[in-house]
Amino acid sequence: MTQCDSSLADLSTQGLGSVQRYANLRRTDSEIFRLLVEQMRAESTTLKMIPSENFASLAVLEATGSILTNKYAEGYPNARYYEGNEIIDRIEQLAIDRVKALFGAEHANVQPYSGSPANQAVYRALLKPGAKFMGMPVPAGGHLTHGWKVNFSGIDYFQIPYGPDPQTGLLDYDQIRDIARRERPQLIWVGATAYPRILEYDKFAEIAREVEAYLVADIAHINGLIVGGVHPDPVPHCDVVTSTCHKLLRGPRAGFILCRVEDRYREKYHPEDSSTLAKRIDRAVFPGLQGGPHVNVIAAMAVAFKEASTEEYRQYARQVVRNCRRLAEKLLEKGYQLASGGTDNHLLLMDFRHTPHTGKEVAKALARAGIICNFNMVPGDPRKPFVTSGVRLGTPAITSMGMKEPEMDLIASWIDTVCRNLDDPDRVVGRIRQEVAELCLRFPPPGYVSVE
Ligand SMILES: *Cc1c(COP(=O)(O)O)cnc(C)c1O
Repeated sequence: MTQCDSSLADLSTQGLGSVQRYANLRRTDSEIFRLLVEQMRAESTTLKMIPSENFASLAVLEATGSILTNKYAEGYPNARYYEGNEIIDRIEQLAIDRVKALFGAEHANVQPYSGSPANQAVYRALLKPGAKFMGMPVPAGGHLTHGWKVNFSGIDYFQIPYGPDPQTGLLDYDQIRDIARRERPQLIWVGATAYPRILEYDKFAEIAREVEAYLVADIAHINGLIVGGVHPDPVPHCDVVTSTCHKLLRGPRAGFILCRVEDRYREKYHPEDSSTLAKRIDRAVFPGLQGGPHVNVIAAMAVAFKEASTEEYRQYARQVVRNCRRLAEKLLEKGYQLASGGTDNHLLLMDFRHTPHTGKEVAKALARAGIICNFNMVPGDPRKPFVTSGVRLGTPAITSMGMKEPEMDLIASWIDTVCRNLDDPDRVVGRIRQEVAELCLRFPPPGYVSVE
């Protein structure tokens, strides 16, 4: 046992009862049990700084791991293809009502298995194969499902790319308008996996209206910041909003779709179909793409939506941004470059274009020091996607652990030390790995228990 493994044995056993301490799993499948424990050790002694990751609450974990996994409920509340769903109807309706209230949406579908299937349903509901849409390519910060060439979205539909200016790292709304005017897309995606700035939905809406395109916001990454009031609200400006549940929202792995009921472009794009937009979205999810919804996950989503509607959660969201800004400030002070010059949200992109070091090299060295992040393209990146010149760091998970500005200062100084020693990381990573573990053990995340 290494030193940090043994200190992990002291980890507080908050919350989970003995059944959930995996006694049955241990008896039935010792291999998976061991691997689970190893993963638990790794995650509770390292800094989870991948911006799309977080820690779900014990209540969310309990609902996800519950007997609700045993039920089939194809269909929607009060319109099922299986009997015995009266209680399941109430569970799904609660999830729907809560997410509608949380975002002020007219209609919600909580059945998508994850964020990508949610986006797939939007294509199926709004476009015909081959239709033109605007989205950000992956190297520009967009998601695979916004038209990347190896994804269904780039194969079955026709992406017109847009993205941040390579010099400034910022979206240029005049340029986006010019592209839209020239190309007349049927749909515009606004959303990103690696854009550290505010997205101005009102400006996108103006552009979309002018060219009569559907405007769809993908808020997978920033949903919690919208709930917390630290990022603009897309709902009033968009036809459809898609999201994951497991990133900032701290829910189970799942997706959901919000939309207006009426389709304002029905006559233009769907003259043969008299259904509402809400109906077409629902039909695209089930039976269009999926069979039985994951009822256990929908129950856990309802729990996460309830948790996210509290003042405590809104404070959490604000702290996520304060932490990220602090980290950015400290890194800038130490002379590092950040894409777009800083951050307004939960993530930042360190920019190593001007150095001999690649994003991959930095991310791997940071991981050895216990700072888990990912290498990422930056705007104007001359290197290949599997090497990159950027490192993406996010604060959602470490903020869930309870870390604040003083911890950000520590983390910035560790990152700096690793980056100054890239020629021989061995000099420093062992010591920092130990310090990181000691810090993390002071902030135990929910559900990470010691198992002898
Ligand atoms: C994470 C993400 C998704 C997809 O989520 P999965 O659950 O991984 O399928 C979609 N869009 C954006 C912008 C994302 O960041």
